[in-house]
Amino acid sequence: MRITVLAGGVGAARFLRGLRAAARDAEITVIGNTGDDITLSGMRVCPDLDTVMYTLGGGVSEEQGWGRAAESFTVQQELAAYGAGTDWFALGDKDFATHIVRTRMLTAGSPLSAVTETLCRRWQPGVRLLPMSDDPVETHVLIEENGSRRSIHFQEWWVRLHAAVPALEITPTGAAAATPAPGVLDAISTADFVLFPPSNPVVSIGPILAVPGISEAVRAKTVVGISPIIGGAPVRGMADACLAAIGVQTSAAAVAAHYGSELLDGWLVDEQDKAAVDDPELADIAVRAVPLYMRDLPSTAEIARAALDLAAELRA
Ligand code: GDP
Ligand code: CA
Repeated sequence: MRITVLAGGVGAARFLRGLRAAARDAEITVIGNTGDDITLSGMRVCPDLDTVMYTLGGGVSEEQGWGRAAESFTVQQELAAYGAGTDWFALGDKDFATHIVRTRMLTAGSPLSAVTETLCRRWQPGVRLLPMSDDPVETHVLIEENGSRRSIHFQEWWVRLHAAVPALEITPTGAAAATPAPGVLDAISTADFVLFPPSNPVVSIGPILAVPGISEAVRAKTVVGISPIIGGAPVRGMADACLAAIGVQTSAAAVAAHYGSELLDGWLVDEQDKAAVDDPELADIAVRAVPLYMRDLPSTAEIARAALDLAAELRA
């Protein structure tokens, strides 16, 4: 079985651990969001790709859900002593090594897909991890402060401002001119199913679908998504602030309607949201209610199994 998953960071990475356990013989390809990527202290940082790689490779900080376990911050402290650091974005010493390898390879002319493959040789995530594109894409957020509007990097809005300033627009800058990375369209077209993990629909899945060719390829497949929204709120993070920016309500049903039946064939909601199963607005999407909290590996594998069962049923 071939499964292709569009992925953001923490929500996707945790789901993928469950999927890997639920589908041991499957060939899993992960198409990672690069809209979160940012250059800090001269280093190219790819937060979502790294979260997936560290989580599946066993190196992630379990408490945070991102970054390396047992991390120290000497380099960042030394940079700060020069007045040259970024105090709002944590970059640990172990993490720095990843960014050094990546930046060195990119500077020497390697595409991000080749860099990612090299990094994964160490981590052996058990899936094929592809960036959505080798072309730079950065999600930007339009905000208004003291009466004037300005566009800032998504990370600055999310991490420095904690998404507390309303986003007027969220744009995956560069996506429209980007091409899917090598292997991306092929991984979608040859997949038995495409899954959307419970990732942020606006800033994780949105930028991937904004790369020309990807949403067309996905639309042709059997697609099952898992709601990141339970009981009208994100399980973690501030996805509600992103949904508000695009005029979508923070509910499992509204997120499914936002993707639409062209894209989604099936949608898993939590038992709390079981009203969505009979929602007339979702008449063309097969909605199932199952427990959706990824508490541990067994409960997460159970969610992945429910997604695979629904996909198999819809494909038949
Ligand atoms: P990010 O890039 O690190 O923000 O990660 P993603 O975009 O992949 O995932 C973020 C989303 O995961 C958030 O909107 C959360 O609501 C969702 N999420 C986190 N934990 C859970 C969980 O246990 N169950 C479900 N259904 N969603 C979750
Ligand atoms: Ca992210």
